[in-house]
Amino acid sequence: MDEQDLEALADEIRRADATVAFTGAGISAPSGIPTFRDDGGVWERFEEGQFTYGRFRSDPVGFWRDRLELQRELFGGEYEPNAAHEALADLGRSGHLAAVITQNTDGLHEEAHEEVRAPADGETAILELHGNSQRAACDDCGFRIDGDEAFERAETGELPPTCDCGGVFKPDVVLFGERLPPAVLQRSRRLARESDVFLAIGSSLAVEPAASLPRNAAARGATLAVINLEPTPRDDDAEYVFREDVTDVLPALRSAVESA
Ligand code: NAD
Repeated sequence: MDEQDLEALADEIRRADATVAFTGAGISAPSGIPTFRDDGGVWERFEEGQFTYGRFRSDPVGFWRDRLELQRELFGGEYEPNAAHEALADLGRSGHLAAVITQNTDGLHEEAHEEVRAPADGETAILELHGNSQRAACDDCGFRIDGDEAFERAETGELPPTCDCGGVFKPDVVLFGERLPPAVLQRSRRLARESDVFLAIGSSLAVEPAASLPRNAAARGATLAVINLEPTPRDDDAEYVFREDVTDVLPALRSAVESA
């Protein structure tokens, strides 16, 4: 790891009014949750077409069967926040992180922040752009239940799991063909525009809005840092590129920020 870059970035974070972290599947890979697009990623065994909103509506039984398989594949094991989630939570606690915007649906940021949060701490906003698999919501009336309950009901034969109102429960995630939640997206865009430092972490930055949030932040004058094992389309806009594991870079960055 380039120590000089790390110190310089830490210094910028210390002086920033607002640092924003944007995370993708790569931050949860060390927790044992596979990514989608890497070699060996989930998309080698599934297709987007299985998980569209159109399919959920037209073939809820088939959708839920496939979704159960995907759920086992992604979240089947025991998993918990790793050192990278924890480092971001610590930066939040020490007042150095305004927000985490995530594409992940695993709930691990929320969990890590809850573990370190004390009542007097500044709040780090956590924005889940793609929803949260730990919840399910009725597609008709919006009634929410625990995701585990919905998956358990499906697994034990209730296909599809159905609400008392007669509607079908849907994992509370944004399916292909669905709009991102407008309020969350708007707030994310505003945070990106207003950030002084924007950290793009564990994301291929290949799809919207992942591609444009860091670009717009940099265009508005934010310092952009990319932390990802592979090159991304935004590396050229970045002042700092760490092509290393998130669990190495983020704890080191936290120590550098908090050591001064
Ligand atoms: P992606 O799968 O397209 O890319 C992940 C990136 O992370 C890759 O470029 C890879 O090089 C990098 N990476 C993997 N392990 C890393 C590590 N230890 N340290 C640093 N970098 C690492 O992921 P994406 O861009 O986030 O898009 C995938 C979509 O799939 C997202 O929209 C997300 O909703 C969904 N998804 C979520 C989860 C989850 O909730 N944990 C898991 C898989 C996919």
